[in-house]
Amino acid sequence: MSALEAVVGLTYLVAAATFVMGLHLMRSPATARTGNLLSAAGMASAILATVALVGCGEHFYVTGTGWAVLIAGTAVGSVAGAWGARRVKMTAMPQLVSLFNAVGGGAAALIAFPELLHQFEFMERLGADYSALPVSVLLFVGLDLLIGSITFTGSLIAAGKLQGWVSGAPISFPGSRLLMIASGLLGLGSVVWLIVSPGVAPMLVLTAASLAFGVLMVLPIGGADMPVVVSLLNAFTGLAVAMSGFVVGSDILIVAGGLVGASGTILTKLMADAMNRSVLSIMVGGFGTGDAPAGAAAASGGEVRRTDPDDVALRLAYASKVIIVPGYGLAAAQAQREAGELGKALTDRGVTVYYAIHPVAGRMPGHMNVLLAEADVPYPQLLEMEDVNPEFATCDVALVVGANDVTNPAARRQGNAISGMPILDVDKAKSIVVIKRSMGHGYAGLENELYTDSKTGMLFADAKKGLGQILAALKEYAA
Ligand code: NDP
Repeated sequence: MSALEAVVGLTYLVAAATFVMGLHLMRSPATARTGNLLSAAGMASAILATVALVGCGEHFYVTGTGWAVLIAGTAVGSVAGAWGARRVKMTAMPQLVSLFNAVGGGAAALIAFPELLHQFEFMERLGADYSALPVSVLLFVGLDLLIGSITFTGSLIAAGKLQGWVSGAPISFPGSRLLMIASGLLGLGSVVWLIVSPGVAPMLVLTAASLAFGVLMVLPIGGADMPVVVSLLNAFTGLAVAMSGFVVGSDILIVAGGLVGASGTILTKLMADAMNRSVLSIMVGGFGTGDAPAGAAAASGGEVRRTDPDDVALRLAYASKVIIVPGYGLAAAQAQREAGELGKALTDRGVTVYYAIHPVAGRMPGHMNVLLAEADVPYPQLLEMEDVNPEFATCDVALVVGANDVTNPAARRQGNAISGMPILDVDKAKSIVVIKRSMGHGYAGLENELYTDSKTGMLFADAKKGLGQILAALKEYAA
């Protein structure tokens, strides 16, 4: 081992340690930023170490790759990543994450292709048959192509659905489920084909079948199942990267991919459990999909009671317990500071205040926690769904700010896009105020009967503006 290889190996070890420490720090909003920076620094040093190794021509697998290509690739990737991340709105973060998943999965699959061709060339030079290649090499290449290709197209469709370029509703056509199963089986069968009879044909069929499976798997998923599928694809990206690590013999890729795969899998399981879904049922058939209008029917025709900021402020001022229920609209309006200030003003008046956090409120896991942490809301006031739900029955005012699906009692009935999803029991509160701009639907496209509940007052306003007006009215009462 040369001195350079020893230094690079040590750098990889340190980088792997920073990934694990970073993940640990990301468990709490208070330390998540530090964790993110630490892991990013570890990844940057791993990239630099790899560039040094490759550029100095000491790495067995990538000889011939020049400095110029390496530096240009790193520069283009870094600039595009930094530009995309800085420019993206907080509400569009899930689409960006999906795009990053697509890029990660696609890159992992692309690694497998030239690597296997290179191995074929090597066998030809030796005058040996391709089937003399070790099964382990073929297996990892096959799995890399399979998982990477599924992740690539699946994540692109997910990003399109989240961005609104593809309908967010489940999309299917006659025979689509059968086609999905067939493409999945063809993909898996082609991995076996590649191992038994290595060649370019199984590689191409495997890639095409996996790309098709990714599209067909994600198209019929919509509504409450989207968060689960996004974290599942994130786990797939990690697995594909780990496989590509085996393919090119890179320890750091195996470690980084393994960690992403493991943490993504844990997150997927947590999200699926929280949503009362099984991951398999989501993948093979869009568990929550169904007859949306049937679920909506119960809501139509009820009377809508309007309220205004003064009335809301009065109700809040004389409450002893208030639960603020943030949702996607709070993120869209960037109203987290106002929500935090209102909570503080009420706490100062002696009111008990909680913020109810639904696991899929907003558009990405932990969305509400991140926003409210930014607004310096004290952590003990943030209650997860299972902890806050028993509190609604004794709460004087539930103040819903831009949340819709996560409060929709239609979830308790069968036959609609959110059936079976646990919701925040806002309808059990003594009185309810909902701030949103209109009677418009949420992500799942359903009407919400909470809005016509006799206990509900609708404050039709942008969340930031509405909260600001309530805060101003509350201050007047205090004066
Ligand atoms: P919803 O998407 O159900 O509803 C958000 C509501 O916010 C809308 O009805 C909209 O009504 C209102 N709104 C939008 N902009 C504003 C604004 N500026 N001011 C005030 N209100 C506004 O949000 P929820 O958080 O309740 O539910 C999240 C949904 O997203 C779930 O269906 C979940 O499955 C899905 N999802 C979640 C992901 C995650 O990881 N968390 C990822 C992908 C999907 P109006 O237009 O009338 O103002």
